[in-house]
Amino acid sequence: MKNQTTRMKIGEGRISGAISIFLGCLTLGALLCFKFPELLTTPEFREVYTAEMAENLMLGGIIATFLFALLSLLFNKNKKNAVIGVSLGVLTVVLGGVMVEGRAVDKVNWSIGLDWLILDLLIMAILFVPIELVFPKNKLQTKFHEEWRTDLIYFGISHLAIQLFGVLTKKPAVAFFGWMNLDQVHIWVSGLPFIVELFLALLITDVFQYWAHRFFHSHHYLWRFHSIHHSTENMDWLAGSRTHFIDIFFTRSVSYIPLYVMGFSTLTFNVYIIFIAIHAVLIHANTRINFGFLKYIITTPQYHHWHHCEEPEHYGNNFAVVFPFIDKIFGTYYLPGNKWPKGTGLVDASFPKGFLKQLIFPFTKNPFKNDLLPEERSKR
Ligand SMILES: [Zn+2]
Ligand SMILES: [Zn+2]
Repeated sequence: MKNQTTRMKIGEGRISGAISIFLGCLTLGALLCFKFPELLTTPEFREVYTAEMAENLMLGGIIATFLFALLSLLFNKNKKNAVIGVSLGVLTVVLGGVMVEGRAVDKVNWSIGLDWLILDLLIMAILFVPIELVFPKNKLQTKFHEEWRTDLIYFGISHLAIQLFGVLTKKPAVAFFGWMNLDQVHIWVSGLPFIVELFLALLITDVFQYWAHRFFHSHHYLWRFHSIHHSTENMDWLAGSRTHFIDIFFTRSVSYIPLYVMGFSTLTFNVYIIFIAIHAVLIHANTRINFGFLKYIITTPQYHHWHHCEEPEHYGNNFAVVFPFIDKIFGTYYLPGNKWPKGTGLVDASFPKGFLKQLIFPFTKNPFKNDLLPEERSKR
């Protein structure tokens, strides 16, 4: 699909064409998961869905691929996207997508999280694409802006490598805290009501995350890696995925230490992960919904867009991911009424375009033309 310079509108047949291709790709990927479950599905995630659910979703996905292609064919003069959608649908059917059946999966050491990628992409698209379409912040911004493919690749790779990230991010917690006897803490945590336990998990991880995040802003060399996340000029539901793997590994390792060592229940752990996954997409989304008084309790798109603002005088605020009061306590809170930043991104910086180039770039080069003086560093 070519970059669209104009925003899509309902009734043109362009949205249905894009949906058809999107669902066609997802169902084709899902078919691969059915064919090679050992390699392409995640053991932990398989506990969440049943074979029957996956089979029904698959069938629904194929039917929807054809229906949206039909809509596009009827309303769009340009038939290309409808033809691509139909071709993907036909390929999935020919390869056995309609009759597919889940089977018992052998235990293997390593797998790729394609099932997690497909389901999360589907759920996030269903939740956020309509929100961005109906309540956009930046009305002129299209989903298919210059760097949407790059952001999608970031989203894809971080999901496919979920098992690797899981193993790596657990290591520091085990290395630093594994030797401690935390039985008393575990007993105390297990006696808490679920909602208190969840709040505690969110709060403690957010404090750890706050300092890891702030460290990435203030440390001269680490800032190169985190600045990749700040390079986005088009905030939307995929933008938050643009995070360098060094940043993901370090920030997540530090933030997850309390989750791994305090003995939270599996339910708390899973609800935490789901909440953070949805909330992280929300705060980057291109939506003007401001959540009324809730914006003082929990971070919102407006709050996090200020963290990404391109005006240097407002750099170095709003590090917290979930609770704004953490920024209040540490003196980095900034939420000026209903005002939003004029733009997002970084002035005086130039980044290469594309995932691979951005992966290597911070190791060897500095994206900033004028590097910060030591006394200015904490400003970021
Ligand atoms: Zn940041
Ligand atoms: Zn962000």
